[in-house]
Amino acid sequence: MDEETLQKYVDAGKIASEALHYGKSLIVKGAKVIEILDAVEEKIAELGGKPAFPAQISLNEFAAHSCSDLNDETILSDQIVKLDVGVHLDGFIADNALTVDLSGKYNDLVKASREALNNALKVIKPGVTLGEIGKLIHETITSYGFAPVKNLSGHGLGEYQIHTKPSVPNFDNGNENVLEEGDVIAIEPFASTGAGIVQESSPATVFTLINDTGVRDPISRKIMIKAKENKGLPFAKRWLEKDFGTAKTNFALRMLRKAGCVDEHPPLFDQNKGMVSQAEHTVIVSEEPIITTWHEK
Ligand code: MN
Ligand code: MN
Repeated sequence: MDEETLQKYVDAGKIASEALHYGKSLIVKGAKVIEILDAVEEKIAELGGKPAFPAQISLNEFAAHSCSDLNDETILSDQIVKLDVGVHLDGFIADNALTVDLSGKYNDLVKASREALNNALKVIKPGVTLGEIGKLIHETITSYGFAPVKNLSGHGLGEYQIHTKPSVPNFDNGNENVLEEGDVIAIEPFASTGAGIVQESSPATVFTLINDTGVRDPISRKIMIKAKENKGLPFAKRWLEKDFGTAKTNFALRMLRKAGCVDEHPPLFDQNKGMVSQAEHTVIVSEEPIITTWHEK
């Protein structure tokens, strides 16, 4: 990795961490979810970054991909709140997440995913197998009596690519592939009081543009051109609604789906409705790994 690229990863990490912890400070009872998400994205811009994906807040049994649309009235009360924030600088991404327990009942659940992440980070270096990392995460979370979410994984980060190889498992899947010098990976253990398997809910409010041909009506074309600004990174329905209104956005997203132009990323919830916690950092793999999103408090 050249110096310039490394610096962009490091700077993106600093912004992602600051935005995440700023968002954390806004997670209090009575706060409106949509206002926190808007504030986090404004903070990212203020610090000179761009969102690598829409900031997301997933509550209770929802593990990931919950993102306010423009009409979201959700107010925080006593939920388990996961905040996930990604930032990029010229396509070089940092991805991090944390959990706040507003119920006061799930302190251990929050600790389990955080400790699993910390334990995984301690062994990151070239040559460690993906299965070993997964085993460590699994062992840590089960030692607390919870289930790791097996069908969610950490992932590689590429230029303008939020999910590339390698996939970093949250359990020992026997994968003998090893981390290599210069890999940039996000590690993100999820701990659940339920099944440890997530399934899709609806409706999706996060999308990715995968193809830019095949829609002809003017509204969909206009919205597609706007979506293209994200260069293949995920975008929020809410971002489009702010520019085009809800009705036109819904129409265009339907057309774009039909034409195979967009992928959707629906909210994911534990299939036994277990409560879920998450912790996530981004790391550049080397003999002395760099945790780009590390935040000294
Ligand atoms: Mn994330
Ligand atoms: Mn991630």
